[in-house]
Amino acid sequence: AAAEARFIANNPLSKKQHDLAVCSLPGGNTRTLLHTSPFPLCMKQGKGAYVWDEDGHKYLDLTGELSAGLYGHSHPVIRSTILSTFDNVGVSLGATTAQEQRYAALLCDRFKLDRVRMTNTGTEANLHALAAARHYTGCRQVVVFAGGYHGAVLSFPSRREPLPNLVDKPDFIVLDSYNDSELAAVQIEDRSGKIAAVLVEGMQGAGGCIPASRHFLHAVQDAAHRAGALFILDEVMTSRLAPHGLGASLGLKPDLVTMGKYLGGGFAFGALGGRANVMAVYDPRVEGSLAHSGTFNNNTMAMHAGYTGLSEIFTPEVCVEFNAKGDELRKELAELAEGSRLSVTGLGTLMTLHFTEDGNKEILDVGDVKRKERGDFRDLFWFEMLEEGFWITRRGYIAMILDTPDEDIGIFLNAVKGFLKRHEGIM
Ligand code: PLP
Repeated sequence: AAAEARFIANNPLSKKQHDLAVCSLPGGNTRTLLHTSPFPLCMKQGKGAYVWDEDGHKYLDLTGELSAGLYGHSHPVIRSTILSTFDNVGVSLGATTAQEQRYAALLCDRFKLDRVRMTNTGTEANLHALAAARHYTGCRQVVVFAGGYHGAVLSFPSRREPLPNLVDKPDFIVLDSYNDSELAAVQIEDRSGKIAAVLVEGMQGAGGCIPASRHFLHAVQDAAHRAGALFILDEVMTSRLAPHGLGASLGLKPDLVTMGKYLGGGFAFGALGGRANVMAVYDPRVEGSLAHSGTFNNNTMAMHAGYTGLSEIFTPEVCVEFNAKGDELRKELAELAEGSRLSVTGLGTLMTLHFTEDGNKEILDVGDVKRKERGDFRDLFWFEMLEEGFWITRRGYIAMILDTPDEDIGIFLNAVKGFLKRHEGIM
């Protein structure tokens, strides 16, 4: 309560902005995740790895736009690409362009895809991947895992919670067996001939940065194939974790892969790609093929900024180096967390700090977090990190930004250390 009172006192202009926003947006919000009680902080500007709020506080941006902000704010190379595209090409030409072909070729090469299609969001990429799988297999049902998040309308926090109103419940089988290879394989094969796809994240991102084991993902891939279903790997969050995506680094061969986030170079973006014979369901030259339209699917800004980011900035070498930094940060956080209620999960530059009743460090699925989560400590951590100048998501998720100074990471580690020390008795 004291931390929340300080938050209110320190942020009068964010409060004022929220009071205005509720007059035209339900709850003052247009992205559910960004709502925080008693009101959200309202950000005014970003530059590099920092953001500033309406009240003038400066923060190290550890939220990294939920992984889409990998390049940081106003990266100079992306900036010049955007300006030159705007001046010399135009925003959206109502026609096919060389930009989309060039970016598609790069995405295919980098992520080992035969063919790719662009969308505006990761959600759309997943919806179209499911449509492709249904068309290809002639089946309708899709297997997903509790804790999986594949977009706002494809969110499966647990087996019991209701599905978003936009998807038909009977179409989805939500399994409670993430990271349980044997059980998942049996559950999938039991549905042989009835399912179009198994849709899975290699690391459940929104579910709490919970990595799947290599063994589990291979078991799921094999079981999906034995059941006559497609194996769809959702790499919307994880494609940044290895030079050719997380799946390739684990030796997986998904039929379809979905992507998004930073691959738009900061603009709205999504993509689905994979095997040529599956992606052929979207070939407009073929009679009976599926339609996949979208006014901004090939908008030149995202095509160009995405291409520049992936080819000039986030090269395979930079990807490896960057994620090694994330591994180091997680290791140091885990050392600080020993003997406390704090646990750290994740891979590379994506991670979540969990506060659980028993301080369990072996978090293998969303149930391990939900059963014992200490929301009060998580909130206290959030309020105190804000006071110390760290912009972090309320649920403890961190997505690192390229070029974040090592010195700032060191200051963050000290702040976490200070937090655990300050609350030693209860933490
Ligand atoms: N899939 C995963 C794994 C995600 O993390 C997200 C977004 O966080 C999505 C899909 C949806 O992407 P978008 O928000 O671009 O619709």
